Amino acid sequence: MEKYKFNATELHTKMISARELLNKDLTSQEREKVEMSLLAYINLLNTTVNVNLNNFLDKITKGKYSQRQYNKAECLTSTVNEILVQKIDYTTEEYLHFLLKLVDNIATPYLESSSYEKLNVSDDQMLEVSNSFFNYLNDAELKQYYNKIVLRPNAIAITSLIRLGNENFKGVCNYDYLNSEPYITVIKQNDINDLYILSHEMIHGIDFLMKPKLYSETHYGFHETVTYAFEYLIADYLEKQGYEKNEIDKLRNEKVNYICGLAYQIQMQIKHKLRAKGIDIKNGYDISDIKQILDVDLMKNLLEVQSGIMAYGFYEQILIDKNSGLDNLKRFMKSNISKDKTPDFSSFDLSNDKLLSLSETFKKEATEVKHK
Ligand SMILES: [Zn+2]
Repeated sequence: MEKYKFNATELHTKMISARELLNKDLTSQEREKVEMSLLAYINLLNTTVNVNLNNFLDKITKGKYSQRQYNKAECLTSTVNEILVQKIDYTTEEYLHFLLKLVDNIATPYLESSSYEKLNVSDDQMLEVSNSFFNYLNDAELKQYYNKIVLRPNAIAITSLIRLGNENFKGVCNYDYLNSEPYITVIKQNDINDLYILSHEMIHGIDFLMKPKLYSETHYGFHETVTYAFEYLIADYLEKQGYEKNEIDKLRNEKVNYICGLAYQIQMQIKHKLRAKGIDIKNGYDISDIKQILDVDLMKNLLEVQSGIMAYGFYEQILIDKNSGLDNLKRFMKSNISKDKTPDFSSFDLSNDKLLSLSETFKKEATEVKHK
């Protein structure tokens, strides 16, 4: 019997009461919390049991599901993006300019992803490794939040079952805003990723517990900053524990390749969109052209590139001084990235200039990876 699984009955009850709540008079923020939670329950149930969710999908998409404007997979994977946050956060030309410079600094065609050696770890072992990683961090506050997740029954599901809606991920954290409870799903790969991903998702959970991020308040797109920063630490920890260095290096390289490849993909995406708009790009393009094609997806990708470089910066701070670096990162986790202003992380010692200079070292690492 699977030990790590969600409680379908409990989730079903929560889902019905959230749907009922949506019929009530709510402030926009209360409504957002209910909608986000309902979406979490739908996703969790969808990957747990075979249950008819049509009615709930319709509620969350405001009827667009039954009008066939979205199919089920789209509702489950891009609802957040396309239905709930269908607008670009405040941005200036100067900021766009910075983001594009960052992209240009690191863009590298994506390398084939590595295949990993088989590693059979039991579900209990996965939890043990995650637990000892958080002990290794030796930070009482992080451990306290971590315990809030692991000690809660049915908060974690480890499965090898691929269902509609989870074919594209290896792990996910869904957050129940109504009860302040993260739910962690890990799709087992039977390789070193299992150890990596569980801790990655735990960090998402802790990040939500420290500050429940609401799309109406916070810039959408920086959510991987924290997890990517911790991934460096997870890799270092696994290496210290004697796991195969070669396999851990694959994990490390994969991340650098992914971020540099994403930057390259953005460049392609921009050219494609400009051409589709009939904009002549023979002599290059400028910010005013970009503004014409900037959409939610492009912005999300740009911010993920920035997140990748910020994570690298946070990791560097931790290497220099573990306590102050972790404190800085925790302060970031608890902060709100106001949507009324251009994102600026100077107060975390990650100003735009700093990020640009970090991106050059980052790229150098990617090039070294390539020649290995
Ligand atoms: Zn993540």
